[in-house]
Amino acid sequence: SPRRPELETQSGEEVAIAGVIGAGIMGQGIAAANLKRGVRVLMSDNRPAALAAGIEGVIREASYDKATKGVSADLAIARAAHISGVNGSAGLAESNVVIEAVVENADVKRKLFAEIERTLSDSAILASNTSTIPITTLAEGLKRPENFAGLHFFNPVRKMPLVEVIRGAKTADKTVERLVAYSRKLGKTPVVVNDGPGFLVNRLLMPYMNEAALLVSEGVSIKAIDRAAKEFGMPMGPLELHDVVGLDTCLHAGEVLHAALGDRIEPAAIVGKLVEADRLGQKNGKGFYDWT
Ligand code: NAD
Repeated sequence: SPRRPELETQSGEEVAIAGVIGAGIMGQGIAAANLKRGVRVLMSDNRPAALAAGIEGVIREASYDKATKGVSADLAIARAAHISGVNGSAGLAESNVVIEAVVENADVKRKLFAEIERTLSDSAILASNTSTIPITTLAEGLKRPENFAGLHFFNPVRKMPLVEVIRGAKTADKTVERLVAYSRKLGKTPVVVNDGPGFLVNRLLMPYMNEAALLVSEGVSIKAIDRAAKEFGMPMGPLELHDVVGLDTCLHAGEVLHAALGDRIEPAAIVGKLVEADRLGQKNGKGFYDWT
């Protein structure tokens, strides 16, 4: 078993309550992973409709029954008892760990962290699910940067075992250890990676995805690109992957990498154009492809 209970005992308190801020694609996946492993969830979002839809999504995801290939009513009732929608940062106060999964924007995230940190206990961990923004940058202004780290899940969370645990310049060893143990508790495979734009996986993945979008601008058909990538052995094509990730998130992530790496990654204009046309990917039914 990949789980190492000795790490959990060494590092003290286990996570019993996880706070998740941002009830979108990733917040839902992360919350469901917690419910499935018996961790209670407090969830918040600044849009009430997104919170309501998010909680519904989490319960559905966490009560999927493989045998019947559907949602189990019994499980759904049990899961619903372990998740609460809460209002703002104050509602997350009881959490042992808070995972932030809001829009990929450093200013928005930092503003939230300052608010959340005030409400949490001294031993609670604050973690960001950011795809690309350096953790050391996000920690600026925190009172307890030692309790802050990156905890980067991949999409879709139920299928992707990998979690990047990212140590910022001021992250304590104990925080890294506790996040490693917590990731194992969720059944994930944590890897501790260096801080920096895009960390490890997105330094590799984003340029690949961006090149695919550039090929579309050069006139290559979307289907031809995705088909070639799949025949090559990728589980899905890079343009379908854009739609799964969310075009707005791809755009923000591309901007962060471009700001850090310059002309090594020049974001494809077509992604920005799709976002302007409100084609955000699977999350709103249309992106490179139509999903409805
Ligand atoms: P999303 O657009 O699906 O959801 C974001 C949610 O955050 C929305 O419901 C929105 O209402 C809420 N939100 C925005 N600002 C907020 C604020 N100030 N306070 C509270 N809630 C707020 O986005 P997502 O795809 O879940 O991405 C969330 C984070 O996870 C981003 O940092 C992204 O880079 C990262 N990430 C995304 C993926 C992916 O494949 N989509 C994978 C790994 C990491």
